[in-house]
Amino acid sequence: NDAKPVYRRILLKLSGEALAGNQGYGIDPDVIVGIAEEIREVTALGTQVALVIGGGNIFRGVAAASKGMDRASADYMGMLATVMNSLAMQDALEKVGVATRVQSAIDMQQVAEPYIRRRAVRHLEKGRVVIFGAGTGNPYFTTDTAASLRAMEIGAEVILKATKVDGVYTADPAKDKDAVKFSTLTYLDVLKRGLQVMDATATSLCMDNHLPIVVFDLTCRGNIMRVVLGEPIGTIVKG
Ligand code: UDP
Repeated sequence: NDAKPVYRRILLKLSGEALAGNQGYGIDPDVIVGIAEEIREVTALGTQVALVIGGGNIFRGVAAASKGMDRASADYMGMLATVMNSLAMQDALEKVGVATRVQSAIDMQQVAEPYIRRRAVRHLEKGRVVIFGAGTGNPYFTTDTAASLRAMEIGAEVILKATKVDGVYTADPAKDKDAVKFSTLTYLDVLKRGLQVMDATATSLCMDNHLPIVVFDLTCRGNIMRVVLGEPIGTIVKG
């Protein structure tokens, strides 16, 4: 097997919903183990993996705020939800034999290390998967922005943005039969056309720092590996 990874260090962004599977809420144990196994295969090639997981399967700040809750408080709840997902992913990874550390942007020493950039890098160098919990630690941000920020900080070469479709389309392929998939896009295309890749804050951060984003379909098994091996699946956003 002469498969060679094209990336040395990646940041994989999973939405909270990715962990929920078909139930739409919470964490599906089979789904999370499947993802953990795929991550193990990639780390076995020598690629260092950092993870940011959303919280939308449990709690979303904007949704609660639209029903009257204070936005900042709601966002802190959303951040706590991402820590629950991070702990679930840590458990799944360790069950399949992958060493991990969770680092939280909100201090909670009993359950996770605090976020310390240089320590995160050291863990990665030792082959541990580092899971960044609690987003950026700030309300009014998203885990996509946390993923971009952490990717930059740890010197990841790419963000792998996992979705339920195999890339970015001109329109929603589930609703529009004429929708066409982009194989590459620029950051400005994404911003100008308002394409659903990542939010504008996250996209601009990647643009300013020339960090490529690969949007791919996580529901197809083996896709994380395909991206890491450089197969042209999904859509790549770069400048
Ligand atoms: N959140 C936040 N600051 C951050 C990251 C997340 O306030 O830096 C909150 C926000 O309320 C958000 C929730 O955490 O709705 C869950 O994150 P997100 O919506 O990004 O999760 P995903 O859509 O990826 O599941």
